Amino acid sequence: LTRLYGPLTALSNVRVDVMSALVSFQRVFEILDLDPPIKDAPDAVDVSRGAGRVEFRDVHFRYPSASEVSLASLEDVATLDQSRNEPVLNGVTFTVEPGQLVALVGPSGAGKTTTSMLVPRIYDVTEGAVLVGGVDVRHATAASLRAEIGVVTQDAHLFHDTIRANMAYGLDDVADDRLWEALERAQIAPLVRGLPDGLDTVVGERGYRFSGGEKQRLAIARLLLRSPGVVILDEATAHLDSESEAAVQTALAEALAGRTALVIAHRLSTVRDADQIIVLARGEVAERGTHDELVAVGGIYADLYRTQFARTDSPARPEDPDPLTVAA
Ligand code: ADP
Ligand code: MG
Repeated sequence: LTRLYGPLTALSNVRVDVMSALVSFQRVFEILDLDPPIKDAPDAVDVSRGAGRVEFRDVHFRYPSASEVSLASLEDVATLDQSRNEPVLNGVTFTVEPGQLVALVGPSGAGKTTTSMLVPRIYDVTEGAVLVGGVDVRHATAASLRAEIGVVTQDAHLFHDTIRANMAYGLDDVADDRLWEALERAQIAPLVRGLPDGLDTVVGERGYRFSGGEKQRLAIARLLLRSPGVVILDEATAHLDSESEAAVQTALAEALAGRTALVIAHRLSTVRDADQIIVLARGEVAERGTHDELVAVGGIYADLYRTQFARTDSPARPEDPDPLTVAA
C-alpha cells in the first residue's frame, strides 16, 4: 500500500502547501474581520448554537479554476492549480449526529482535508449540500458559522501579539477568569502563569516562542473560550514529545467533549473511539462503520490499520492488542 500511494503522497504535499496558503488568507480575513471571500446570501440565516448535526448530501467538489478565484493576490497560488479541474469529491454522503465523533480516514489525496474545509465554508460545494444544524452552509451567515465551528489544525497559527489578544480576538470583553479557565482546561495555564508577563506575554518570533504542542494547546484554549458546537480536527501526524503529547490529548478531549466532531484521524485511539469511521478513497466513501466492523471487512481500512494506525499509539499499551492478531 505504501508503495502504491508513494507518488500520490509526493503530489499531495505540494497541494498541502497550496492549501495552507489559502487557509491563511481565510484566517487573515477572519482576524481583520473583513468580509471573507464568500459573502452572505441576502436571505442568510444564523446557525443555531449547540452541537448540531453535520450532513454531507451527495457532495461533489472540484477546486475553482484561477478565473473563479476572486482575490487578485491569490493568483500565484491559483495558477499552480490550473491543471486541476479534476473532481476531488464525487458524491460524498454521511451524517455526523449531534454530539458524535466521526473519524475521516483514507489514503493521502483521498479528499479528507477538502471535505473538512467544506464545513466552515472555506469553499463551496460544486453539487449537493453541506448542512450544519439543518442549515445549508450556503444559506448560513458567515458570522454564525464561524462562531459555531471550531477548527484545530496540525499547526496552530498565533499572531505576533499578546496571549490575551490571541485568545480573545473577535470576542468583546473577555474577563481574565474566563481566559484562565480556558487555559486551565487546555493544559497550558501553568506555563502561562510562570511567564513574567503572564497573559501579556507577546507570542512569536520576537516574543516568547512556544513549542508546537504548546501552540496547539493555546489554540485549543481559544476554541474552548468560543465553545463551538461543531469541531473539525486535523490530528497531528508529526511526533510531539511524549509529555506535551499527553497534555495535547487531554486538551483535545476537552475540546471534543459534548460537541459534534469530524476528525481527520491519524491515531488508533481516535478511530477506536469514533462512533463512525468514514473511509474516503478517490473522493468517494469507500467504507463506513466502526473499527471492529471495518477490520472484519478486510478492505481499505484494514490495510490502513495495519500500515498506519497500528504504529500511532506507541509505545504499545497493554490494552492495544497486536494489530496483526486482530486483523488475522
Ligand atoms: P487528503 O487530505 O485526503 O490527503 P486532500 O483533500 O488534501 O486529500 O486532496 C484531495 C485532492 O485534491 C488531491 O488530489 C489534491 O491534490 C487536490 N487538492 C488539494 N488542495 C487543492 C487545491 N487547493 N487546489 C487544487 N487541488 C487541490
Ligand atoms: Mg489532508
